[in-house]
Amino acid sequence: MTYGKNNPRILSAKFKISNYDIRFHNVEFSVQRNIGCAVFPERQAPKPPYNPVFQPQPPFIMSAQIINGTLLSQQLRTDVARRAAALSAQGRQPGLAVVLVGDNPASQVYVRNKVKACEDNGLHSVLEKYDATLSEAQLLERIAALNADPKINGILVQLPLPAHIDSHKVLEAIAPEKDVDGFHISNAGLLMTGQPLFRPCTPYGVMKMLESIEYPVRGAHAVVVGASNIVGKPQAMLLLQAGATVTICNSKTRDLGHHTRQADILVVATGKRNIVTADMIKPGAVVIDVGMNRDDNGKLCGDVDFENAKEVAGWITPVPGGVGPMTITMLLVNTIEAAERT
Ligand code: NAP
Repeated sequence: MTYGKNNPRILSAKFKISNYDIRFHNVEFSVQRNIGCAVFPERQAPKPPYNPVFQPQPPFIMSAQIINGTLLSQQLRTDVARRAAALSAQGRQPGLAVVLVGDNPASQVYVRNKVKACEDNGLHSVLEKYDATLSEAQLLERIAALNADPKINGILVQLPLPAHIDSHKVLEAIAPEKDVDGFHISNAGLLMTGQPLFRPCTPYGVMKMLESIEYPVRGAHAVVVGASNIVGKPQAMLLLQAGATVTICNSKTRDLGHHTRQADILVVATGKRNIVTADMIKPGAVVIDVGMNRDDNGKLCGDVDFENAKEVAGWITPVPGGVGPMTITMLLVNTIEAAERT
């Protein structure tokens, strides 16, 4: 086989192998590394049936395949809109209530995006905004009212809450069947015992990303860096249930790189910029970056040193445009699932 500027064959070979027999991906990857400069014809896209979600980006110099969360979200939202329309036609339009207390600027952006995503896809949404002085008792009263409201299938309380409110108490007040974030203790228990009612949105989105590249999770070694209740722990549970061997790392982990270098699937969710560098990644691994940080110029970035990591990984998610859009999409999916169950 010759590799030339006008020879698209290597592109087809990689996609074919990664789609149909992913175990050979690393082999193919090292072949491409050895030839050093696999440059593809400008703007030549792979032909169907290759999934456009992980098409290489121009100028098509071979490095990791980018898992495009924005594009995958659009695909999933088409199905969300179809299911919302079917429910609405039966007079059961799915409804989401988003509750925001205080004026945290990041939270304001998140809730706005969530409400807009509902509107764009045919879901009914209610945004309840309260001053930071709202008391815990008043918030619990509002939750009780939303629990009883038949037009509302999902309730989301945007975190963090002001310090005087016990967020655990508030999350436990949400009816488990409307807990579309999946944070209620009974939903955490159901997830842990393998019978999830709601999968927390971010880890659920990550699983959809792995599904989109047809990655064989069963038997793979997954390493999750971060062990929070909303990302790391539920992520580990979902990967375990999909048949992966899972390692969970936290801030006390000794020699983080020792663990990450063993990962076929590496999910990073710490909120620490550049905590994972290229030398901590197994060649050909799937790297999913959940983190949301700001770089020195105030630009959104993840936890992984993306520019260098993409030269080692087989697949990688960008920030922005990776896990973020998937989280909102899975919130819509959970709300639809809640409405379909009623
Ligand atoms: P969190 O509650 O602060 O938890 C961070 C986790 O990372 C903790 O378990 C912590 O360990 C661990 N950690 C911190 N430093 C570490 C280190 N040096 N080595 C290994 N582990 C370390 O954060 P979170 O809510 O899980 O969120 C994590 C990141 O994801 C944040 O940047 C957040 O903004 C982002 N996020 C993004 C989305 C999205 O949609 N894209 C959604 C949710 C969160 P300990 O347990 O030992 O403290």
